[in-house]
Amino acid sequence: MKAHGSFYDILGVSDDSDLIAIKEAYKRKLLAYHPDKKPLHHHMEDKTIVNRIQEAYAVLSNQRTRAEYNEGLTQQSKRAGVVSDGEGLDMFDLDDFKMVQEEPPMDDYSNSYSRIYWEKDCPRCSTEQGFILTETALSEQGTKVTETGESGRYEVLAQCNSCSLWLKIIYYDLDEVDDTFLHG
Ligand SMILES: [Zn+2]
Repeated sequence: MKAHGSFYDILGVSDDSDLIAIKEAYKRKLLAYHPDKKPLHHHMEDKTIVNRIQEAYAVLSNQRTRAEYNEGLTQQSKRAGVVSDGEGLDMFDLDDFKMVQEEPPMDDYSNSYSRIYWEKDCPRCSTEQGFILTETALSEQGTKVTETGESGRYEVLAQCNSCSLWLKIIYYDLDEVDDTFLHG
């Protein structure tokens, strides 16, 4: 997934372009914004654009900084995915996942330790635990679904940590379901 306004967008290249393509795009873009080719009142604005082009090139022309930048983009699109409507994604029920309860640490006597997560092998690339959903992820990233008329229905989008496949996962907040059942 490519974020809008990314360095790739600025240079007008795809995110899998090689260094040669990036260099060519960089030269092309610089030429396009060359002050000699523009009327005077465009200069200020162009200066900012040229700065961004140079910044984009500096980052993308170096393997290490490019890798770091890509990682940042992935995080960004993951966050963006949380608020996307997830249309067209494969849908799974949380019941399709395997629930795992972590054992409390040996020195924990509080009885309050309960760390649960759900895991699933990726249906596309078969990576084990390609999908892992923690309770925190569900409570912080889940969005309530009201269109279906079902009470307590939530969904969350998650990305395979290996092949980048996105899935939509449906789950139910049992407290809310029970509440509606009792009062409705
Ligand atoms: Zn995968």
